Amino acid sequence: MTGTVEIPFAIDQTVWHVGSGRREEWVPCPDCAGERRHHVRLGNGEEITIWCETCRRAGETPSGRLLVWIGEHKPTEFVCRRVSIEWDGRVRYSEKPRDDESSLTRYVGAEDLFDSFEACVVACGRRNRDRKQEEDDRIRRRAASGKETIPHTVHYWRRQIRQHRQNLEYAERELQILKEKKDKHE
Ligand SMILES: [Zn+2]
Repeated sequence: MTGTVEIPFAIDQTVWHVGSGRREEWVPCPDCAGERRHHVRLGNGEEITIWCETCRRAGETPSGRLLVWIGEHKPTEFVCRRVSIEWDGRVRYSEKPRDDESSLTRYVGAEDLFDSFEACVVACGRRNRDRKQEEDDRIRRRAASGKETIPHTVHYWRRQIRQHRQNLEYAERELQILKEKKDKHE
């Protein structure tokens, strides 16, 4: 059995690539609006302030902001120097010449390459929108999970306070007993 894989671009052809397309950016935390804390009113009317879990990294105080990836694909010139065909028929290209063994070869999929600049601009726009959507969803999920942890945090600290109160009472009682014994001996 024989099969044919169509190679979309010729070797040494200059085409347009969607680019690597990521840029980091800090945005205010959507949950605490950069305040870093939440004011929580408990069932008994007591008000407490706790750190925001959405913009808090383990072991640190919250920063009030989140690092997000912004989609920034833009047409970049690409010269097809090598071609590779995957087991599933995907065609990939590398910009590195065949005789250059100096560094790692980075292949990009033919689906990310375009022979017209305009088609590449359209593809970049679509990718940037998808990425923005993904990022927005991720922030929303993170904010939602932060809210879930608030009752747990409150519960944890209440338990800690109760525990420490009991320890303190125990210590005071022990101290009292020792004092009474000492008084008797004097
Ligand atoms: Zn926050």
